[in-house]
Amino acid sequence: MVVLELSSALESPNKRFKCSFNCPLKISEEAFLPHKISSMASVKMNFYVDLDGLLHLEGNIRVPCEFMCDRCGASFEKNLFIELNQTVSATLDEEDEFTYKDGKVALDPIIEDNIILSFPSKVLCREDCKGICQNCGMNLNDQDCICPKFIN
Ligand SMILES: [Zn+2]
Ligand SMILES: [Zn+2]
Repeated sequence: MVVLELSSALESPNKRFKCSFNCPLKISEEAFLPHKISSMASVKMNFYVDLDGLLHLEGNIRVPCEFMCDRCGASFEKNLFIELNQTVSATLDEEDEFTYKDGKVALDPIIEDNIILSFPSKVLCREDCKGICQNCGMNLNDQDCICPKFIN
């Protein structure tokens, strides 16, 4: 568990603090199939507590992933970058999901939640991926096939 100690931030409202850490992920391996995500994310962020006692986390999350292209099926490794912009309140409101307590907050569930919410629904190996020929099954990124091309 990654626990962020907030005592300095609580003593100095609105003052920005920096931190970076590796965050173990407990997201199920099946969650994003056919893509695979690493069990460790790296996070760089600033945090501060505002005058209302609301904790702000701002930064980015990097997750090494092995993606499978939605168009051609090729697998490729790439880092997923997710912007982190999360507020955490001191007491539980109905709308809030995360709270801090006794000047401490567990970061892993927050990081995991942000990854799950921001995971791309469509992934391409490259922007202009040509995909697979519907007729012969050839990966058209590697080679053009000789099938007649139909115009839709
Ligand atoms: Zn592709
Ligand atoms: Zn073909």
